[in-house]
Amino acid sequence: MTDLTAASRIAAAIRNVPDFPKPGVQFKDITPVLADAGLFAASIRLLTENFAPGDVDAVVGIDARGFIFSAAAALSLNCGLVPIRKKGKLPWKTIEESYDLEYGSNTIAMHVDALRPGARVLLVDDVLATGGTAAAAVGLLRKAGADIRRVAFVIELDFLKGRGKLAGLPVHSLVRF
Ligand code: AMP
Repeated sequence: MTDLTAASRIAAAIRNVPDFPKPGVQFKDITPVLADAGLFAASIRLLTENFAPGDVDAVVGIDARGFIFSAAAALSLNCGLVPIRKKGKLPWKTIEESYDLEYGSNTIAMHVDALRPGARVLLVDDVLATGGTAAAAVGLLRKAGADIRRVAFVIELDFLKGRGKLAGLPVHSLVRF
């Protein structure tokens, strides 16, 4: 296994859980990556690849598994962490963005004063699937006037074509299925 690249070792560790949380969905379980110190560190190194401390003003993480990777990435880049949460969870004044789901819609929120206009940000989540969540997060960052330097995912599900919703942005994913 020693000749495998870090990304392929991460890919091999991801557990596929069929029919979770509902029939027809193959859930990508990243907990085996988190449980392995070397793989967890490699995932943060790759998410922040070619960025040095000082290159971004904040890492923005998406609720909920995105927080795990974004928190570690923020520490590694010596910058702050800004959470994007599901509506109703943040205590202060928020800006919001809604997006459509297969049935119904979702709303995400960010504190109105979380980022100054022009702040350089790295946006992080665990999985890019249909891209609805990430595109809404990008909408929030644009409302805040942020300068999006990278949108980074541990996993990208190519067949769902989420990348198409992030056109014109530097999208970076470690593992593609
Ligand atoms: P989407 O908005 O469809 O791109 O979905 C992205 C969000 O849903 C991410 O925050 C993921 O955590 C979660 N997600 C979507 N599909 C999966 C999957 N197959 N396995 C794990 N998480 C997923």
